[in-house]
Amino acid sequence: MRVLIVEDEPEMASALIKAFEKEGMLAESVSSLTMAKAALQDDLHSLILLDRQLPDGDGASLVPFIRKINADLPIIFLTGRSSITERIEGLDLGADDYLNKPFAFEELMARIRAIGRRPATVNIPKVTIANLTFDFSHRNVQVDGIPLILPRRQLLVLEALCTRVRRTVMREWLIERVYGFDEDIQSNSLDSHISRLRRSLEISQARVTIHVIRGVGYLLKESYESV
Ligand code: CA
Repeated sequence: MRVLIVEDEPEMASALIKAFEKEGMLAESVSSLTMAKAALQDDLHSLILLDRQLPDGDGASLVPFIRKINADLPIIFLTGRSSITERIEGLDLGADDYLNKPFAFEELMARIRAIGRRPATVNIPKVTIANLTFDFSHRNVQVDGIPLILPRRQLLVLEALCTRVRRTVMREWLIERVYGFDEDIQSNSLDSHISRLRRSLEISQARVTIHVIRGVGYLLKESYESV
């Protein structure tokens, strides 16, 4: 079960991520419609929690975009808007449920269960690139079938790159995935995690390479074989 939280309030987003982790569910957050669209491209999520008041627009405007990618993906609006008209509007737009802030996490979990998408029923894919496999449901990595244990940040970087194999991952998106809202990020911090990750991959003999797309971001692909 992988939850995408679209929420621009840092405390709310990180509290939800922690609460989901306690339930054994992976969750990640993005803070804008633009970031959400980028994160949704790969259809790796099994639930969307969607705030309505986002810095670049109404979360409800994301529903048609989500429905185009996956007609069955459960969407729960989380919002401070509480009028009956707005609730009805949200449900009419295609959300599965509507929860007003503040709410108890237990209530959210109950509603997730009610939607009928129990974590165990959702099958989340693995990605294989050359001899490296990333298992998104357990968040683990194997090289030639042997588990590769990575420090947390390196794991998050690799995970983000693995969701977009052979495609460019924008730097800002990567930073948001890897650091969330929790910390002040040094501008060179991501680069140092990337270089450590490169080293880890090299040591484990993974035949993948992280390319820098100057001014844009990074890209993960198979290494060229030296024959
Ligand atoms: Ca908001």
